[in-house]
Amino acid sequence: MEYLNYIDGKWVKSASKEVFDSLNPATEQSIGKFQKSKREDVLRAISAANAAFPAWRDMPAPKRAEYLWKIKELLVKDKEKLARLEVKEMGKIISEARGDVQEAIDVFEYMAGEGRRLFGHTAKSELPNKFAMTIRNPVGVVGLITPWNFPIAIPAWKIAPALVCGNTIVFKPSSDTPLCAIALAQIIEKAGVPKGVFNLVTGSGADVGGEIIRNKDVLGISFTGSKTTGEMILKTAGIKKVGLELGGKNAIIINEDANLHIAVDGVLWGAFGTTGQRCTATSRVIVHEKVKKKFESMLLERVKKLKLGDGMKADVGPLINKAAVEKSQRYAQIGQQEGAKLLYGGEAKKIKGKGFFFEPTIFTDCKSSMRICQQEIFGPVLSIISVKDMEEAIKIANDVEYGLSSAIYTESMKAAFDAINKIESGITYINSSTIGAEVHLPFGGVKGTGNGTREAGIQGIEEFSETKTVYFDYSGRLQKAQGID
Ligand code: NAD
Repeated sequence: MEYLNYIDGKWVKSASKEVFDSLNPATEQSIGKFQKSKREDVLRAISAANAAFPAWRDMPAPKRAEYLWKIKELLVKDKEKLARLEVKEMGKIISEARGDVQEAIDVFEYMAGEGRRLFGHTAKSELPNKFAMTIRNPVGVVGLITPWNFPIAIPAWKIAPALVCGNTIVFKPSSDTPLCAIALAQIIEKAGVPKGVFNLVTGSGADVGGEIIRNKDVLGISFTGSKTTGEMILKTAGIKKVGLELGGKNAIIINEDANLHIAVDGVLWGAFGTTGQRCTATSRVIVHEKVKKKFESMLLERVKKLKLGDGMKADVGPLINKAAVEKSQRYAQIGQQEGAKLLYGGEAKKIKGKGFFFEPTIFTDCKSSMRICQQEIFGPVLSIISVKDMEEAIKIANDVEYGLSSAIYTESMKAAFDAINKIESGITYINSSTIGAEVHLPFGGVKGTGNGTREAGIQGIEEFSETKTVYFDYSGRLQKAQGID
């Protein structure tokens, strides 16, 4: 079946008339054909978003929020259908796919509430008979560019705050998961969001994404994806409001006093959940040398039981595509070449001759300088590094270019607070894995993970609004600040 772009409230073909396929990563079968859009299509979408902007901006925010609430209700109704679609298109296992849709539900619910807040603040003026305050205005037309690993949740994290703040949208999803994006767009259409407010254009990063980034009528860009693409966007976009949510090389620290049972649970979930394809995935374990052996044997016992296969019936699903399998394979070789010890896995797999599967893979006796400990693999590959104390552990945790998530398993309050205060990351978990963000708290990272924006929570509003400072002088004469006569 051929799927279309959604522009100005209509489902339309791209001007190029060309299409591309999206594959089920477990079976390698096409699940549909999608518009290979070009610059012309993006220009149509931007023009529709521009035309729709004034009315959407002027609509009272609580009224805009009613659309978000409706979207939330439709997501609840279609939750199972959408989750099954995610398994088919993205490959994650069904329980996680349900979680992904739930995250979208949660964020629409949370941001609908923002319709009745969107707080600014008031301040006393330094002059008599003068009042000062800040208000939030929308940015304008915003471009949203998303990856494939949370094909419904990540778009929702951007669409919900963008809409409630009064922006209009041109959305470009990943070409690996266009059908999930279309399913979300159908819900937005069904909720009655006025035409032109939300537009969806599928196609390549260079053609569709490139025009969104460069176009002078797009005043804000919200991007989630790799560091390489993010850096390019920042250079190309020029003076726009740009939010970047990029990669991670997240570590779990295990102290000598840790409860190893919950630590093993956390490592398994962090490293092999979503087949390691989360920006917050655990790709390094930094373990105290006194408990390393015991931890490794407990981990091995558990990893052997993980069943690889189609997301409807397995513990670990496929990787997103062939290139991702090749990448994990390459790093499995690099790890061995650089002297790490392969403890488990390391091989690509097929099931009934098909699928982009890769075994959960564990390296031990790693050094922090090894490429498997430095570079984002975005697959089920975990590296274990042992340390003599927590000071060394934190130093190693920080010895990477990224700074998204981190975790420590310990019973010591000092070790926990040292981790909270000294690990360079946007998120730190104590006695829990590196994954598990909740939508009412800010999400994002430091260093190479981003440029300082946060998504979700109250900070999610910052990315999609501009602060206006208002001075209201009711003195009836010219008053000058800073004591000027
Ligand atoms: P990617 O950078 O390859 O692609 C992301 C999006 O950018 C896609 O829609 C793609 O088509 C588009 N794109 C690619 N080239 C472009 C260009 N030249 N101009 C404009 N747009 C372009 O990333 P990916 O492989 O889809 O996703 C995986 C990456 O995303 C990982 O690095 C992961 O850590 C990161 N990620 C980060 C977060 C976070 O919140 N920090 C969340 C999920 C994923």
